Amino acid sequence: MPIRTPAPQQASLTEISKGLFERACIVIPDGVNRATVDRDPFPDYVGWGRGAYLYDVDGSKYLDLNNNFTTLIHGHTFEPVIEVARRVLKDGSCFSNPTLHEINLAELLCERIPAVEQVRFVNTGTEAVMFAIKAARAATGRPAIAKIEGAYHGAYDWAEVGQAGTPDTWGAPEAPITVPNYAGQPRSVTDDVILLRFNDAAAARRRIAANHQRLACILIDPVPSRAGLLAPDDSFLAAIVETARQYGILVIADEVLNLRQGYQGASARFGLNPDLICMGKIIGGGFPIGAVGGTKTAMAVFGGSGGPPLLPQAGTFSANPISMVAGLASMTAMTIEQFDRLERLGDHLRARLRQVIAKYEAPFSVTGSASLFRLHPKPYAPREYRDAYLSKSEAETMRLLGRHFKKHGIILPFAAAASLSTAMGDTEIELIIQTFEHALAYEELTL
Ligand code: PMP
Repeated sequence: MPIRTPAPQQASLTEISKGLFERACIVIPDGVNRATVDRDPFPDYVGWGRGAYLYDVDGSKYLDLNNNFTTLIHGHTFEPVIEVARRVLKDGSCFSNPTLHEINLAELLCERIPAVEQVRFVNTGTEAVMFAIKAARAATGRPAIAKIEGAYHGAYDWAEVGQAGTPDTWGAPEAPITVPNYAGQPRSVTDDVILLRFNDAAAARRRIAANHQRLACILIDPVPSRAGLLAPDDSFLAAIVETARQYGILVIADEVLNLRQGYQGASARFGLNPDLICMGKIIGGGFPIGAVGGTKTAMAVFGGSGGPPLLPQAGTFSANPISMVAGLASMTAMTIEQFDRLERLGDHLRARLRQVIAKYEAPFSVTGSASLFRLHPKPYAPREYRDAYLSKSEAETMRLLGRHFKKHGIILPFAAAASLSTAMGDTEIELIIQTFEHALAYEELTL
């Protein structure tokens, strides 16, 4: 594909990254430890990060809109986190005993998030989702889950089903097929998942009602990110909760990514009233973490009545002191004012991107809210996974756009939510807008 842009200011040195990737491919299958690592054709190896920027081993500097998949709400090496992690590390990194630090972080989350009266810490978002689903099963005695087609919830088998359907496999819109996520995934797993289309309230009501006797929970990310960073209709969220309550099914909000939608999280922002909330990413300040929180009634399965818990839950590194203190420092610095400031930056960015799209009459759209945004090579903002699904040529457009951003010193996630951090300001927002405008004006994207 010919590129008509003037020569980039960014050094195009990639030698060291290329060499490291070759070494990695010998000892690591596919060369990376996460299928989600962007590469074109190989990943950039990072040397270090500072604030809004990261520096690769080849000497290039990038504005980081990935922020480790939206984790780093303050950007890299946020000083209060580094300081407290360094101090606490001197006293030991993990113990089989509890520490004061886990109570402090639990108290902060319970104070801030309306649906969270109690919380249990784990190590990843995947684990948080897994234990929330198990909690719903333990509470209801039912095996199955309902979830949104195309939504990503980590790597627990049931949560993975239907996250990557294609036009060839996904079936009729009113009855999406539970596409297995990997070869050999047990049929019993896919049989115990009911897929719902996002923002289709009538179909969701019908499917939940038809399967209510075996449904333990409805798992829903209020702003499904991998499915398109889709904005929820109030009536859809209301239908989910209403139908769930009618049949004694628990509602699990997966806010692993979207807790950053506001000071009180995503459910409070969008009017969802869940029984359980899964958290992760920003609550660990850049260290591994996950958490399941919820009402005292829903959390009772984890124990507290004196007898053996309905759901035993453990984990060698759960509530380790470093993740706890880093998370507390990061979350404490995320005051209402900081959330407001990030929201204003995000609103300004999304509005300007839309202006640029209109100016060039380009077939692009923008989704997102608060500190998150996603560009789609589609003339209308997608409302559900099938709208957001990228054809081969649209995926190529996004790859070229990502390459253009990189040439101009910006890491733009290929097909995931991009995120702002408190380390960013007007300069960074201008850079993003100008880089996008430059792409529409000069690049030959496959539009
Ligand atoms: N749920 C959602 C909505 C996520 O975005 C993610 C991670 N991107 C997960 C769960 C899994 O979290 P982790 O990668 O920490 O296991």
